[in-house]
Amino acid sequence: MDLVTDNFKKFLELKDLLNISLDEFIRTTEERHFQGAQKLWKVCEKDIYKKKYSGLYCVGCEEFYKEEELVDGLCPDHKVKPELIEEENYFFKLSNYQEKIKELIEKDIVKIIPESRKNEVLSFINSGLQDFCISRSSERAKGWGIDVPGDSTQKMWVWFDALSNYINALGYANDDEKFNEFWQKSDSRVHVIGKGIIRFHSVYWLAMLLSAGLTLPKTLFVHGYLTVDNQKMSKSIGNVIDPKELVLKYGSEGVRYFLLREIPATGDGDFTYEKFEKRYNSDLASGLGNLFSRTSAMVIKAGLNNGFKIRPNRLFIEKNKEVEDKVVERFFQFNETLSDIWELVSFCDKYIENEKPWEITDSEKQKEVFSNLFYSLNNISKLIEPFLPLTSEKMKEQLKEGDGVFDISKGESLFPRI
Ligand SMILES: [Zn+2]
Repeated sequence: MDLVTDNFKKFLELKDLLNISLDEFIRTTEERHFQGAQKLWKVCEKDIYKKKYSGLYCVGCEEFYKEEELVDGLCPDHKVKPELIEEENYFFKLSNYQEKIKELIEKDIVKIIPESRKNEVLSFINSGLQDFCISRSSERAKGWGIDVPGDSTQKMWVWFDALSNYINALGYANDDEKFNEFWQKSDSRVHVIGKGIIRFHSVYWLAMLLSAGLTLPKTLFVHGYLTVDNQKMSKSIGNVIDPKELVLKYGSEGVRYFLLREIPATGDGDFTYEKFEKRYNSDLASGLGNLFSRTSAMVIKAGLNNGFKIRPNRLFIEKNKEVEDKVVERFFQFNETLSDIWELVSFCDKYIENEKPWEITDSEKQKEVFSNLFYSLNNISKLIEPFLPLTSEKMKEQLKEGDGVFDISKGESLFPRI
């Protein structure tokens, strides 16, 4: 219990460390979760029956495997031998929902992103959905978990209760108004999940909701895994990266930037300190950070920084518009989006190299060059806001823009070199 509580605290702590905002954070030990899980079980009862069973169970996955799904007799994920379990448990009639779930996914009524994951799910469905076990003996559960309503000798299968967490956090058990607003009648219901748990969400969870007559999610957004030096992160290899250490060393903005820029949103990505520092130095310290500090220093030196009314030229207006459009269009492909924004950083860098503002003596020409640069920097400060909120804030504070008029001041470096 102490271990679980420690881990819970670590996850919650990440919210502040990574500067993330959240509306709800729920633990499966909370009363509202117990109530919701049992309520869901009861409304699914028409699809639940009891039978004697034996199967191969991986405790790491909390899932039964078929013989043919194992790799050399081992769990494909955990590389451990699953236990042979024999007991009488409750089962859910998944077979009732095979055709319905297939149709929902095929027609994108429940949209799975990316397409490759959708195909993976469809091929799993087409291989034939079998009823699945949704409880275990209280003895095997060692007292952990939630009682099956009306049968205290059995605990719910952890995924049955865990999946209900989504709606329990939204008041399923005891807050109809909240539940309707954020789930039943909401315009958008998106689950963001790792690729390893796609079956639970795209098949079992949909079946449970269908059985309960509840609204379904609209989108399952499936992300990949993070490897370290192209190896799976694991305690036994000893290559686990603690996000806390990373943030304390490099700051939340650097860590956020690397993860969003380097890891494709729906694919796997690799972390090494070398890659991290390279990316940080090239894109942040020498890239945006340097562009911002040297442009600010030049405009201050030129004495144009107070009440500077910008008049960007057409080339810059169009270039900025082009980048903004791309960001809107493919926002969720974060790595691409950031690469688009950084295209604007390089565009400004090249412009400075060509124009050499420090050599310009004509004051109108000087104003034009600085107009283009600050027009772009101001846009960049807005475009990066969802990704790098602290940097965005610092830039806006230094630019003090209102109606195209700037009061630019000198600030500390956005990204000191590592
Ligand atoms: Zn496993």
